Amino acid sequence: MQEKGSISIHTENIFPIIKKFLYSDHEIFLRELVSNAVDATQKLKSLAALGEFNGEIGETRIKISLDKNAKTITISDRGIGMTAEEIKKYINQIAFSGAKEFVEKYKDKDQSQQLIGQFGLGFYSAFMVAEKVRIVTKSWQEGAQAAQWTCDGSTEFEIAPAEKADRGTDVILHIAPDSEEFLQPFRLREILTKYCKFLPVEVALEDDVINNTQPLWTKAPADLKDEDYLNFYRELYPMAEDPLFWIHLNVDYPFNLTGILFFPKVKNELVNRNKIQLYQKQVFITDEVKDIVPEFLTLLHGVIDSPDIPLNVSRSFLQADSNVKKINNYITRKVADKLQELFKADREAYQQKWEGIDIFVKYGMISDDKFAEKAPAFALLKNTQGKYFTFDEYKEHVQANQTDKNGNLVLLYTNNPEKQDVYIQAAEKRGYDVLLLNGVIDSHFTGFLERKFEKAQLKRVDAETIDKLIEKSDLADVILSEDEKKEVIELFKKVSGKETVEVSALSTDELPVSIVVPEFFRRMKEMAMIGGGMDYMSNLPDQMNIVINGNHPLINRLVKAQTAEEKEKIARHTYDLALLAQNMLNGKDLTAFLNRSLEWLN
Ligand code: ADP
Repeated sequence: MQEKGSISIHTENIFPIIKKFLYSDHEIFLRELVSNAVDATQKLKSLAALGEFNGEIGETRIKISLDKNAKTITISDRGIGMTAEEIKKYINQIAFSGAKEFVEKYKDKDQSQQLIGQFGLGFYSAFMVAEKVRIVTKSWQEGAQAAQWTCDGSTEFEIAPAEKADRGTDVILHIAPDSEEFLQPFRLREILTKYCKFLPVEVALEDDVINNTQPLWTKAPADLKDEDYLNFYRELYPMAEDPLFWIHLNVDYPFNLTGILFFPKVKNELVNRNKIQLYQKQVFITDEVKDIVPEFLTLLHGVIDSPDIPLNVSRSFLQADSNVKKINNYITRKVADKLQELFKADREAYQQKWEGIDIFVKYGMISDDKFAEKAPAFALLKNTQGKYFTFDEYKEHVQANQTDKNGNLVLLYTNNPEKQDVYIQAAEKRGYDVLLLNGVIDSHFTGFLERKFEKAQLKRVDAETIDKLIEKSDLADVILSEDEKKEVIELFKKVSGKETVEVSALSTDELPVSIVVPEFFRRMKEMAMIGGGMDYMSNLPDQMNIVINGNHPLINRLVKAQTAEEKEKIARHTYDLALLAQNMLNGKDLTAFLNRSLEWLN
């Protein structure tokens, strides 16, 4: 006997709204229907385990088949199936009211209030791609009569008895003309590989099994070897270099979460192409996990599987969600613990990996207070000699020689050891240590270090002349008279074409003329360039100060020189040497310098 009915919801036709709303995510229909098939199969297994179902479970593979001529896709399972009564209850009421609720909640939201992941509509999402859906199903219960249900997405449906030999459900989608892309086998395979790769019940496209039903994160860490993790990583990211190390996550209280996070070698970049994948009970949800894990951890790779992350909510809600906060803290703690453990276990090996995790650890320290608290136990500083120090060790190492007359600790660094070699050597001659801070994140990190070390200042080696870099005592007097000083300043202004010229009483082992780049201004500029909101700054030229060493014999010779011509020659040449030390001598000035030098050598 055939029965007609109408689904009791008051929105006339929610189908067009849903279709439009989820226009970019139509492919998730398959994830939703296969997930239902998995649930139905798992339920049958539970009933068997409870002794309620005593029949043969038999083959439970979920099969997706395609009929290009009929333009249908069929999803078949051998799960619990449904009786006609259950169809009415579960499909007509639950599935449709779920869809209605969804529409009412989200129809006024625009694209900017994006939902996290692609929130599923359950069974109803079939209508995003199908103009007609038929369900043929037979319940697991003994003597059950098979039933079929047909609906075209409106609120009208038909239920009738059907013929079906096996227990389980076939969902037959009559694909709509605008969704025919889904009738291509490669497209179906692509979707299944994306969402169903790790489902716990075997899923096959025609006869081809798509999934690995026991992905590594569901297994006990004690049973796994390094090779297993590496193989799994290669399965997740076929094109990537092997990871440095990994963490297996596993908690069930106060939230449920499993997963494996891999530490890739992070090169000099802050964007990541191989993203962390979020699963819920082995169903792929999204690889946009920015709001779910702390931002610095998005540099990691791997999978997180948690049913406790709400997906049908907006970003701001998600960030305030208490489970998400707990998950955040948990992962951060685990990552910090792992790094500490590796450092303690084998410092030498850890140092060798440091270059690959340096950015990640620094990013974490700058952006996450909890991580920063733990980081002193495993964060390293590297100097120009290639030696590594913890923060405490470093303080110990430099404190005696690098504290200035005001009691400030001055930490020196270079962001380009090749170009700043003159300055580095000058510093090292004084017994100073120079840190190597040449990563993309280091201009932010210098500020962090200053706050971390009390009463400390970071200065790039060329921020001042060496005597002033770490001022030990008041500078000596210049041996030049006031008039001589004036003369020298005017001369160098002329030669350099710059206004920022000063005479200082420096040691005789310093250069006669130096070009320094004051720390404060330069750092502001660097911050502006990486987006500190002061865009006008990044367009300003670098501030350069020209410092004349009033005590240098060559400057003395300049003052004593007989002719204006000779004075200018010395000035020009010593200024060129200063430019050379800063890698700034080029073009016509470089040619003139070469010719002048050759002349003198002849
Ligand atoms: P949800 O799965 O979130 O409950 P759905 O709209 O996807 O919502 O499905 C509604 C209900 O229909 C399910 O709870 C289930 O009882 C029933 N159902 C859907 N698909 C199947 C299936 N393949 N086999 C058995 N029951 C199913």
